[in-house]
Amino acid sequence: MMALAELYTQYNRVWIPDADEVWRSAEITKDLKIGDNVLFLRLEDGSDLKYVIEKSLPPLRNPDILVGENDLTALSYLHEPAVLHNLKVRFMESKLIYTYSGIILVAINPYKELPIYGDAIIHAYSGQNMGDMDPHIFAVAEEAYKQMARNNKNQSIIVSGESGAGKTVSARYAMRYFATVSKSSSKANMEERVLASNPITEAIGNAKTTRNDNSSRFGKYTEISFDRRYQIIGANLRTYLLEKSRVVFQSENERNYHIFYQLCASALQPEFKDLRLMNAEDFNYTNMGGCTVIEGVDDRRDMIDTQKTFNLLGFNVDFQMDVFKVLAAILHLGNVEFKRISDDKSSVVRNDRHLQIFCELLHLDAQKVAQWLCNRKIVTTSDTVIKPMTKLQSENGRDALAKKIYSHLFDYVIEKINKALQFPGKQHTFIGVLDIYGFETFDINSFEQFCINYANEKLQQQFNLHVFKLEQEEYMKEDIPWTLIDFYDNQPVIDLIEAKMGILELLDEECLLPQGTDENWLQKLYNNYINKNPLFEKPRMSNRSFIIQHFADKVEYKSDGFLEKNRDTVYDVLIDLLKTSKFKLCAQFFQDNTATKTPYGAAIKVKSARPVVKAANKELRITVGSKFRNSLCLLMETLNATTPHYVRCIKPNDDKLPFEFDPIRVVQQLRACGVLETIRISAQSYPSRWTYIEFYGRYSILMTQQELALSDKKQICKVVLQRLIQTFSLANSLIQVFFRPHTDNSILHWDTEER
Ligand code: ADP
Ligand code: MG
Repeated sequence: MMALAELYTQYNRVWIPDADEVWRSAEITKDLKIGDNVLFLRLEDGSDLKYVIEKSLPPLRNPDILVGENDLTALSYLHEPAVLHNLKVRFMESKLIYTYSGIILVAINPYKELPIYGDAIIHAYSGQNMGDMDPHIFAVAEEAYKQMARNNKNQSIIVSGESGAGKTVSARYAMRYFATVSKSSSKANMEERVLASNPITEAIGNAKTTRNDNSSRFGKYTEISFDRRYQIIGANLRTYLLEKSRVVFQSENERNYHIFYQLCASALQPEFKDLRLMNAEDFNYTNMGGCTVIEGVDDRRDMIDTQKTFNLLGFNVDFQMDVFKVLAAILHLGNVEFKRISDDKSSVVRNDRHLQIFCELLHLDAQKVAQWLCNRKIVTTSDTVIKPMTKLQSENGRDALAKKIYSHLFDYVIEKINKALQFPGKQHTFIGVLDIYGFETFDINSFEQFCINYANEKLQQQFNLHVFKLEQEEYMKEDIPWTLIDFYDNQPVIDLIEAKMGILELLDEECLLPQGTDENWLQKLYNNYINKNPLFEKPRMSNRSFIIQHFADKVEYKSDGFLEKNRDTVYDVLIDLLKTSKFKLCAQFFQDNTATKTPYGAAIKVKSARPVVKAANKELRITVGSKFRNSLCLLMETLNATTPHYVRCIKPNDDKLPFEFDPIRVVQQLRACGVLETIRISAQSYPSRWTYIEFYGRYSILMTQQELALSDKKQICKVVLQRLIQTFSLANSLIQVFFRPHTDNSILHWDTEER
C-alpha cells in the first residue's frame, strides 16, 4: 500500500472514466495519503475535480515518452486507457494504422487509400526481422513466410474483426505479399491465379450492407501451397456459412450479391440475350433494399473484370454461361407471382412470364414446377395426399428453392476455383489465411449470430492455448519458476454449445421431430440449463429468447427461425424435378451426394451424436449447425497444426470517415476481439522481455558512473537491477530481462479504511 500511494503524487496523471471519451486524462494536484478517500485532480480543460475513491484508484497514465510505442505491451502501465490512448495517438497524430499488442497485430481501418502497400514496401519488408520494422501487415506476412522457410512448418494468419473493420483488405494484402516475394518466372502465373480467386469469391459472396459496401457474407480459409523453394504452386479455399437469406431478402439500403447487379448491368450484351435480363430495379431479388447501385462502383465494368478473372482461372465460356444462366434463373424465379385462391390454397399466376423463363433456362417443365411450387406431397403409411399451400407458404417455398440453388452454385464455383488452383507437384508447406467474421451482437440476434459467435469462441480458445503454450516455452527456456497464470478458459461456453446435450444437439433433435417448433426447443433449453449452467440465462422480459455469456459479452438470441435455418430444407418434389433437369449443371447440384457432400467431407468425428436429420424422402441431410460444427472442428485441427499469427482489425467509426477515432466503438471492439483480454494475460505474466542489451539501452539513464564503468553490459544490468529491485534474483534469467508492468485495477485496490 505504501508503494502504491507513492505513485499517486502531485503532477502524476491518471485516467478517469468518461461517458463520451471512455477515459479522460487528469493530473493529480495533491499527494495521496494512506486512507484518503478523495483524489484531487485537475482536468485538461483546467477545471478541478475531487475524485471520490470507491474501491480502486483510477489507472495511472504512462509518461509521454512511452506514448506512441510500436508495441502496446512495452507500456509501463498496461490497462484499457493506456491501450486506447496509445492507439489513438498513433492513429490520429501519426496516421499509423498498425500497432502490435504482443503477438497480435492491431490494424485500424483508415478509410483512406494509404501509400504503404506498393511493391517497394513489400521488398523493404522482405527478409527483415519483425522487430526492426514498423508494424505492418507485410511484417506479419514476412514473419509467417520466414518461419515457414526456417522451421519447415505450416503457418496461418488469422484475421478477425467486425464487419467493415478491414479483414478482407488485410487478407488480400497478405496474399499479395506472398505472391510478390515468392514470384518465380517458371510457374505459369500461379501467383496471379491465386490472387484471382479473390475477385471471384467477392463477386459471388460479397454484398453491400449498411456497414460495408463490400461485405463478405461468408468465412474463408485460403491455404496457399508452396514448394521446396517456397514458391507458390497453388491454393485451396474452404468457405464457411454463406448467408443464404440475402439471395431472397435484403434490408433497406443493402444489396444482394454483387454478381447479380453485374449481370443486370450487362443485360444488353449480345451474349446475355437469352437470359432475358432486365434492370436490377425490376427484379424482386435485387431490389428489396431499394438500392441497386453503390457509389463509386460500376457494375458493368466489374462484370468485364469478373469475366476476365474467370478466363484467367481457365474457366471456359460454356461454363461461364452456365453460371450466368443459373443466376438469371434465380432472378426470374424471384419474380414468379402467386395468386390466392382461398385461405389455404394458391397458384402461380396464369402464364407467368418469369416462371416460363426460369423453366426455360433450367430446362424444367413449367407446368410441373407451377404445380409443386403451390402444393405439397404428403406421404403417409397408407397413401399419398396432395396438400395445397397458402400464398405465403408458396412464396416461402419459392424463396427456399432460390436460396438452395444459389448456395449450390456458390459451392460449385468454389470447387471449380480449387480445381483451377490445383497443382501437379507436391505441396511442401502452406500458409493459410483466415478471413472470418468477428464476434457479433445486434439488437436482435438469430441463428447466424449464434454460429458466428460460436466460431469466435473456438478461435478465442485456440488463441488462449497458443499464448499459454508460448509462455510456458519461454519460461522453461529461461529457467524461470513456472507460475500458473489464471487463464480465461472458455471451454464451458463451447461445451454449452457443442457438447453432448448441448444447444446444437438439442436443436438437431428438435429438427428430427415432425412437430418440432422453435418454442419447444427453447423450452428444452430452459429446462436443461436454467440454474444449472451459469453461462445460460432466460431474459426476464422474454420467453422467446435465451442469453449466452460469451467471452466477449452477453448476447441475447431470439429462438425464432432456428429450426428452419438449421434444417434448411426445400420441398422434396421440387428437388426431384431439378434433379432430372436436362441442364447438367443444375441436375448435378441436386444429386444426393452433392446435397450432403461438403468440401471438407462429412466424415469428421465429433463427440456429439446424431448430426444427421432424416428427411421425408429418405435422403440423409446434415443440418446446417452440425455441418458448421464439423467444419469448425476441422479448421481448429488445421490451425492447431500450424504456427498462428493474429491480426485484429478495428473499425474506428461507423461513418466510414477517414482517420476518425470514436473511442467508444474502439473500446467495444478491443474488448470483443480479445485484445484487452490478452493485455490482461500479458500483464500477469511478463509481457516485456528485453535482452540485456536492449535493457541497457533503455535504462542506462538509471545507472551510476561506477556501474557504467563495468565492462560487461549484462553484468551492469544485473547490478543495477539488484540495486533498484531488492527482490531481483540473479538466477532469474539467462539471456533476457522479464518485466511485469503495473496493471489492472486489482493491483490498484485501495483501502480507504486503512490507517
Ligand atoms: P471486412 O472484411 O472486415 O468487413 P473490408 O476489408 O471489406 O472489411 O474493408 C471495408 C472497407 O474499408 C474497404 O472496402 C476499404 O474501403 C476500407 N479499408 C479497409 N482496410 C483498409 C486499408 N488498409 N487501407 C485503406 N482502406 C481500407
Ligand atoms: Mg470482408
